[in-house]
Amino acid sequence: MIAIPANPTRGHLLRCGPGESILDLARHQSMGGLVALRKALAMQPAALIDEVKKATIRGRGGAGFPAGTKWSFLPKDNPKPRYLVINADEGEPGTFKDRYFLEQDPFPLLEGIAISAYAIGAHTAFLYVRGEFVHGIKVLEDAVEQMRKAGVLGRSVLGSPFALEIVVHPGAGAYICGEESALLESIEGKPGRPRNRPPFPAVAGLWACPTIINNVETMACVRLVLQHGADAFLAMGLPKDGGPKIYGLSGHVKRPGLYEAPLGLTLRTLIYDFGGGTIGDKPIKGIIPGGSSTPVLGPDALDVAMDFERIKAAGSMLGTAAATIFTEGTCPVAVLLRISRFYAHESCGQCTPCRDGTGWLERIVESIEHGTARPGDCDVLLSAANQIMGNTICALGDAAALPVISFVNRFRDDFEAHITGRACPYGAA
Ligand code: SF4
Repeated sequence: MIAIPANPTRGHLLRCGPGESILDLARHQSMGGLVALRKALAMQPAALIDEVKKATIRGRGGAGFPAGTKWSFLPKDNPKPRYLVINADEGEPGTFKDRYFLEQDPFPLLEGIAISAYAIGAHTAFLYVRGEFVHGIKVLEDAVEQMRKAGVLGRSVLGSPFALEIVVHPGAGAYICGEESALLESIEGKPGRPRNRPPFPAVAGLWACPTIINNVETMACVRLVLQHGADAFLAMGLPKDGGPKIYGLSGHVKRPGLYEAPLGLTLRTLIYDFGGGTIGDKPIKGIIPGGSSTPVLGPDALDVAMDFERIKAAGSMLGTAAATIFTEGTCPVAVLLRISRFYAHESCGQCTPCRDGTGWLERIVESIEHGTARPGDCDVLLSAANQIMGNTICALGDAAALPVISFVNRFRDDFEAHITGRACPYGAA
């Protein structure tokens, strides 16, 4: 049974409501800030990693890989320095949860970074922030400076022998720089192009040194684990998916925004209880549950729980848990065209199936929307998408193909109506 918070716009992760902020280190401390970091520094790093493993924090960036397990992949016998890199590039359309920490409440993120860096033995952490987040970059730089002046960062973190610097690194303005290996290339000063793997970053990451890459919300969760203990953190979520989660809600809903609840919240609760229902109380046509790359679901999925396993069983992915809703009367081909255009534009061009294939997807969807497609083009579209799937260096290829496959399969009648009627029946084109 999921315990629904009385006020889902505030909780353990969301400390500020809309329009509020905590940008002062002294205020953070007055709210229990730095208690978790002090606790962590009194522990052995191995014990700290065990505590995080026990809490089963599944990475909040979309992949859902448990954070503590990821940390334990670092080679024990490599003499090179270790780096911690935080992915704050947040470029997935529909997703805006990490931005909360960057602009409104940076200290839980920075404290989580300090705890995680201590756990893995990194003395430099790079916080790679999407370049367009100009305000967030300023907030973070100011917060880091406050921590430095207060002795929370620097040669002796809170008076301990542990040294740590956090570098706020503005991103290079491309969606692909949010892909972890492209992000490393970008920090190294190269064009943001994904790397072939293996080797994985834990073995050879930044400047070929062992590197752990984590998401912003994951860092805030690490702080919660230390503050409340692994058992309490686990109790805030599900047995295999510990802790609270920030859910995003956008599209045709009355109250779009960020909400906090345990993992396993149903889409119905998110949309109708938290989001106030749909605009004009129209019936739902489609739900993109976790960012634009996740397969679209229909209203039959309203009672599906939003956790990694159950949403997968329903045919989609939790992704970033940022749901975008569209109601009846919306042209699904026009929605898909927006998505396909985005991925075609953001392909880095390194591999042929993605470079050429994403362009094909965009052009075919565009021709369907504009009524110039030929009978059979839905199958051509599916064939092109299936040839991209799994045949590229990074996940952008799949991210472009999955929405196409799911939209065509779910809304096939709408797609065919565009072709046979030689126009968009919704008038969207
Ligand atoms: Fe670049 Fe696309 Fe290949 Fe990723 S899948 S490396 S974005 S061309």
